Amino acid sequence: MSRRPLIAGNWKMFKTRGEARDTVEQLQQLLGPSLSVDVVVCPPFSALSAVEEVIRESEIQLAAQNVHWEDEGAFTGEVSTAMLSDCGCRYVILGHSERRQFFHESDAVIHRKIGKVLTTELTPVLCVGESLEEREAERANEVIHGQLEADLGELTATEASRIIVAYEPIWAIGTGKTATPEIAQNVHGLIRHWLGGRYSAQVASGIRILYGGSVKPDNARELMAQEDIDGALVGGASLDAHSFATIVKESG
Ligand code: PEP
Repeated sequence: MSRRPLIAGNWKMFKTRGEARDTVEQLQQLLGPSLSVDVVVCPPFSALSAVEEVIRESEIQLAAQNVHWEDEGAFTGEVSTAMLSDCGCRYVILGHSERRQFFHESDAVIHRKIGKVLTTELTPVLCVGESLEEREAERANEVIHGQLEADLGELTATEASRIIVAYEPIWAIGTGKTATPEIAQNVHGLIRHWLGGRYSAQVASGIRILYGGSVKPDNARELMAQEDIDGALVGGASLDAHSFATIVKESG
């Protein structure tokens, strides 16, 4: 099955509304009108609407970096799926390692969020990945399988076919240390194999698996050329429109 590549830029806690607008305006100009891959930007909540106004008529799509699992309620500091859809979001990142590490998001919480998101039109982008210690102890595969098992839980094949997975080795995030294309392909292959065993070969072959971890203009092409790498989740290099646009062009 041919999977359309998807390149997402995770802006984390960077950019005011004005900065976000400028970046996405530049990106639009650099990419031009018809895109051969899905291009997604993930601004902080505070800039979602400002970015949506700029990209409304373009093919660039919008994602949020997190969401709560309830519809509404007394949950100070949280946002709901309806609020994200109202801002024009099509995707939401879940289980990013920074949320797991700094905000103690457990697999149980991530599982609840995925379940909620799948009742809406939003697409969850589930991040999984091992730490350096886990890789060195040769536990990477076990850790990733454990995350998939716990985060996806009892989802049906139809539900699972709507998710996107991002393999993000923690040791490669923001460190400048990219997984080699061989390491990344190996893990992506294992993830697809796990999905095939859990759901079906057909479901697994349709699910996009993105790589994230120090993707840059000079390593994107080699990573994207791997059979089971269907795109990238880009942090640092997505903050600059020129480098993000180059990554998109290298991936098409
Ligand atoms: C990320 O935060 O998802 C990420 C991959 O960051 P970076 O590209 O900066 O490593």
